[in-house]
Amino acid sequence: MNILVINAGSSSLKYQLIDMDTSAVLAKGLCERIGIEGSNLKHQPLGKDCVSIVSPMDTHADAITLVIGALVDKYHGVIAGMDEIGAVGHRVVHGGEFFKQSVIIDDAVKKAIDACCELAPLHNPPNLTGIEACEQVMPGVPQVAVFDTAFHQTIPKEAYMYAIPYEYYEKYKIRKYGFHGTSHKYVAQRAAKMLGKPIEKLKLITLHLGNGSSVTAVDHGKSIDTSMGFTPLAGVPMGTRSGDIDPAIVCFLMEKENLSIDQMSDVLNKKSGVIGVSQLSSDFRDLTDAMEKGDEKATLAINMFIYNVRKYIGTYSAIMGGIDAIVFTAGIGENNSSMRSAIVDNLSYKGIKIDPEKNAQRGKEIDISTDAAKVRMLVIPTNEELMIALETLELVK
Ligand code: ADP
Repeated sequence: MNILVINAGSSSLKYQLIDMDTSAVLAKGLCERIGIEGSNLKHQPLGKDCVSIVSPMDTHADAITLVIGALVDKYHGVIAGMDEIGAVGHRVVHGGEFFKQSVIIDDAVKKAIDACCELAPLHNPPNLTGIEACEQVMPGVPQVAVFDTAFHQTIPKEAYMYAIPYEYYEKYKIRKYGFHGTSHKYVAQRAAKMLGKPIEKLKLITLHLGNGSSVTAVDHGKSIDTSMGFTPLAGVPMGTRSGDIDPAIVCFLMEKENLSIDQMSDVLNKKSGVIGVSQLSSDFRDLTDAMEKGDEKATLAINMFIYNVRKYIGTYSAIMGGIDAIVFTAGIGENNSSMRSAIVDNLSYKGIKIDPEKNAQRGKEIDISTDAAKVRMLVIPTNEELMIALETLELVK
């Protein structure tokens, strides 16, 4: 069966068509500037040249129509007709407390996704628009929603509650939700395969380190804590997001700098993290280059990132009473070997030791720990699209 994976943003739509018999990505692409002048579709069919199609896309339904057109096209298509798409899997950012796993979409599911819009105002509305566009263009094809938050719904209450008046949880559902769940779940499952053990027997810490970063404690296959919180702003310092700070700083700064709510949110989401500290870049490649040239603030930003990731490793290994493996994934986790070794540098007392030669490899699943190490260090490229497709297949087959 072929499954179409959709990740709809406010003015963009990413897709992959995956053949589930072979896991091959038959085609992938991106619609940009939906509803804006100059809309275009970049379509990459397997084994053929990438094509750029410039065509007006007023709505997400127009974008989906164009995507289907590209998939069945005589020249750059990869399937003969729409009937070769067995199901559609949608990435949905927020499932609130409604969804503990992926679900087949019906009216009640759409209502619940809509009810979560307040919790993810930038993401859930376009996710829902993408679902409705597919329903319109591909009636009768089963649609599945896969939530970034669902994997973390196993976090126990003492870990997901914030110590603020209980009524705010009841009134506004303020609690930890956690994000990147699809990625953490995927790499945790792959880790179990690599280690040749059932996931139910493993204690894992998964490090999704990219532009946005999060750390998750996966105990016997279940997320029991994660560094992101009510929003993806919490946890370790990120490219432009602050991560954990003393909440009193927010009131203090708003008063001192006379900032509005939007301005304050902008500072924390877009002007903080490593770009805020380094005053240089949100990209760790730029920061590493600057550090090598002796830039103090870039060095500090990198060190703060390393320190905080390490702090979460300590916290989560304490919570789980030990760890069997640490998994590195996403842009930094998969590619930045010096960051990997720096993060676990002083953890040899825990039985963690990286083999420098293995650590130099990139872009593939690999165990980079020394043979004698008690805790395995794994690098696993994440594949959220494949995970969405697998969950979709599970529900529709
Ligand atoms: P996003 O969260 O936007 O998906 P990514 O997972 O792509 O982000 O991660 C982006 C980060 O990964 C950047 O800080 C970048 O420096 C780092 N990164 C990506 N590719 C490489 C690479 N080849 N070598 C070192 N760092 C990389």
